[in-house]
Amino acid sequence: MTQPQSPSIPDNPLLGEWTGPFGLPPLAAIKPEHFRPAIDRALAAHRAEIDSIAADPAAPTFENTIVALEKSGRDLERVCNVFFVLAGADTGHEIEAIEREVSPLLARHSNALYLNAKLYARIADLYARRATLGLAAEQARVLDRYHTRFARAGAALDKRSQDRLAAINEKLASLGTQFGQNVLADEKAFALILEEGDLVGLPDFARAAAAAAAEERGAPGKYAITLARSSCESFLQFSSRRDLREKIFQAWIKRGENGGTTDNRALIAEMVVLRGERAKVIGFPTYADYRLDDQMAKTPAAARKLLDEVWTRARAKAAAERDALQALIAQEGGNFALAPWDWRYYAEKLRKAKFDLDEAELKPYLQLDKMIEAAFETARRLFGLTFTPVSVPLYHPDARAFEVKDKSGAHVGLFIGDYFARPSKHSGAWMTSLRDQEKLTGNVRAVILNICNFTKPPTGEPSLLSLDDARTLFHEFGHALHGLLSNVTYPLLAGTAVPSDFVELPSQLYEHWLQVPEILQKHARHARTGEPMPQALIDRVLATRTFNQGFATVEYTACALVDLDLHGLADPSGLDVSQFERDDLKRIDMPPEIVMRHRLPHFQHLFSGSGYAAGYYSYMWSEVLDADAFEAFAETGNAFDPATAERLRDFVYSAGNLRDPAEAYKAFRGRLPSVDALLKKRGLADAAT
Ligand SMILES: [Zn+2]
Repeated sequence: MTQPQSPSIPDNPLLGEWTGPFGLPPLAAIKPEHFRPAIDRALAAHRAEIDSIAADPAAPTFENTIVALEKSGRDLERVCNVFFVLAGADTGHEIEAIEREVSPLLARHSNALYLNAKLYARIADLYARRATLGLAAEQARVLDRYHTRFARAGAALDKRSQDRLAAINEKLASLGTQFGQNVLADEKAFALILEEGDLVGLPDFARAAAAAAAEERGAPGKYAITLARSSCESFLQFSSRRDLREKIFQAWIKRGENGGTTDNRALIAEMVVLRGERAKVIGFPTYADYRLDDQMAKTPAAARKLLDEVWTRARAKAAAERDALQALIAQEGGNFALAPWDWRYYAEKLRKAKFDLDEAELKPYLQLDKMIEAAFETARRLFGLTFTPVSVPLYHPDARAFEVKDKSGAHVGLFIGDYFARPSKHSGAWMTSLRDQEKLTGNVRAVILNICNFTKPPTGEPSLLSLDDARTLFHEFGHALHGLLSNVTYPLLAGTAVPSDFVELPSQLYEHWLQVPEILQKHARHARTGEPMPQALIDRVLATRTFNQGFATVEYTACALVDLDLHGLADPSGLDVSQFERDDLKRIDMPPEIVMRHRLPHFQHLFSGSGYAAGYYSYMWSEVLDADAFEAFAETGNAFDPATAERLRDFVYSAGNLRDPAEAYKAFRGRLPSVDALLKKRGLADAAT
């Protein structure tokens, strides 16, 4: 039997197996022009595989349908993994242009897969017979996940409904892009240009940033405060000019609500209607019901129950904080009521007075290399892992690789840390992979990356982190362990492929070990003297953890509640967005001195794409889990208790999506999480309700 030959693309290093050390792709040989032909060929190959699975004349079996799907699309995955690592961490004009070209192609490819009626019929047939197929637990879980994914995409619907869904998806995608561009346009359009004399109270780093922003905006020698969060938040925190604070604050909270072509309110109204229609077509009463059905929370009522519980306490704590700030104003001879543009300023003053904690004092103790060692040591003490630097060809000289082994010396995977900011890297911090763990096609081990944006020091100087940076490093490393320790057979279930209100558990939980005194004392050492961080300084760091948490919790929780209410509307037609926001905040009794962290007209989590629509609650949901999970260690009196760590590895870090998240958590903890640990962590436990 012969097969038609695919056209050969000579010397394209993206095609074919990866044969580098640890199974790495030949990163050094890959050039931007290799991607488009490789992606086109991989897309065509995957399409052919899907068609042949769907058209198989044999009756559906787990092997010829689910296993076949799990083994399909491997070239596409390989090529895309490399592409998106570079698109995030080392991009440029060529990669960006390819990204704009291939993003819609990939979206269409995924739509066509999940709306393939013949394929869905095979999956649905297997699903209906699942009890009689003799499947092992993991096989049953994979089948269930495929069935859910296809059903939630609308695979079971008639052609007319599917066409409507496709049209809605496309429209939502373009409205989302428009929404984000409008926010960016409003941010670009505004700058408060100031003179030296207007900067009273600003620390050096904020002055330098304002000078650079003015230069960028064609006003050299002056100072510009912009609507970027870092710029206006530090102005609100430090500037003693109340009139200017009000000006910048008003501009900040009006983004997307200024009338004219960049006003987002009509877009929001349209998106909420389309999402509601999408949910109804698929069979849910509201978008919030649709969205949460496949999350750990399962229902909007469950998410709301958590938020309500936090909300009443957060309001009480915020009220006490407000009184303390008002007292400080009076003490300084001020004769005005605390306004939203005053909160950050007086809170900062109070923080300094109470705790005497200065970031500049902390920094020399937090060296990047030592903090990486601290993260490694935590993984060794919890899970018996070791990390050995290895020299392998990577995509950028700043990236470093470590081979990961377990207690017995067996290879676990490869960890790549790429920590420094550079112009070719997107902002933020994230975990990603070049290869995910699985056992379906052999003992495939993961290649995991952490990408961060820490400031690169001058040659020969150590890289110093802020406390926030160090937390970020531990957070992303927690995600990395979720990928590295993964121990599943089927790729669909590997590592971080879990619901979004569960995926932050391994990362947020890992942050707790940074502040375990024995880790901090051992690894937080002064860059020049080598002295460990003094206990008094550690104590002050730990003491500030609950300061101003009433404010932070109110600011966040109001957003999560408004999000659930908006996406829970049974009939969102004819929505007046401003009116809705006002009424809803009145309903929840929002304190007048605090404004939502993101008001609807610029709430990008909800409207620049659908990632967190009806899902903004996820951050707090995961925080309940991480606070409660760390409490499991605290209860034993040992932050590295071996039995607790073993359960944590078995049911969380290595378990991917083997189980429903609630069951996984129960298997680890012996019960579902309680909100108590979160309330304690945020200092809300004693707040009167
Ligand atoms: Zn995260």
